[in-house]
Amino acid sequence: MPTGCARAAELRALGLGALLVFAGCAPGESPATAEATRDPFVRIVGTAQDGGFPHAACEHRACRDAREGVTPRRLVASLAIVLPASRRVFLIDVTPDVREQLDLLRDVRSLPDDRVDRSPVDGIFLTHAHIGHYTGLAFLGFEAVHTRRLPVWATARMGDFLANHGPWSQLVDLGNIELNTVVPDESVDLGDGVTVTAFPVPHRDELSDTVAYVIAGPRRKLLFVPDTDKWSTWEPSLLDRLDGIDVALLDGSFFSARELPGRSVEEIGHPLIGTTMDLLQERVASGALEAVFIHLNHSNPALVAGSAERRQLESRGFTVAHEGRELEL
Ligand SMILES: [Zn+2]
Ligand SMILES: [Zn+2]
Ligand SMILES: [Zn+2]
Repeated sequence: MPTGCARAAELRALGLGALLVFAGCAPGESPATAEATRDPFVRIVGTAQDGGFPHAACEHRACRDAREGVTPRRLVASLAIVLPASRRVFLIDVTPDVREQLDLLRDVRSLPDDRVDRSPVDGIFLTHAHIGHYTGLAFLGFEAVHTRRLPVWATARMGDFLANHGPWSQLVDLGNIELNTVVPDESVDLGDGVTVTAFPVPHRDELSDTVAYVIAGPRRKLLFVPDTDKWSTWEPSLLDRLDGIDVALLDGSFFSARELPGRSVEEIGHPLIGTTMDLLQERVASGALEAVFIHLNHSNPALVAGSAERRQLESRGFTVAHEGRELEL
């Protein structure tokens, strides 16, 4: 029976890092210390569309079940890039659920004693200015964590939006965050053999443009596309973008047009899961690609384990992301 940190490492391997507080692991001997040589990995810390699950103010059956604990709640879509060798953590997107998401990363961070951690992550990459993807920045400000020059990477347009509109401009003015410009197709080197590279994605771009990120590690490459218009609008095509990608975390907002009565398929500004599976079936079946759906809307029946839609998706070799899942880089 594993004890102490061995037990903690086991919990973490199971994606249950948030339970480490119960694992009897002293602060100085967290499992990250024991596993300092582990390769970098991505931990999924959120999987829902911007409105969350249960969705804000929604009383439909699946949301009620999640609210009442019948089915698991989910957090808004976000990834953590964990670099165990240097004990650093980066987020892709910072959501309204960021408080809980930092709790899911306690086992891989260096925690301070008895006070607020002013640098709970080492940097943040943003995809775009819709509420699920950046408004967690508010917790970095004076009223909450009060970070000091935390690096935030965003496109030039997204950075301009943040720097010139309150309340975000206050984060820049007070030095809570330091904006770095993400240039499409130019890699940002995080060290430990990991790079992050953005490319533009078509999406409703009211306040900012939108990007997807490729996260490349020593052994594998991941693509993260939480929000996009239909694949038919992509140039280069999705299949071209997937060349060399091992795992794709893709916009799974809607399973089919049926879940949005009264709206035509053309009106839905996202690829449907059924369409995406048809497009990628061959590559997934051949084992060349692992495809994982993320950013699921509360209406999506594939959110619920055991639903007919989830079973259909899994029988075709695809999966739905869940909080705590880890993907080696
Ligand atoms: Zn979104
Ligand atoms: Zn709902
Ligand atoms: Zn969006």
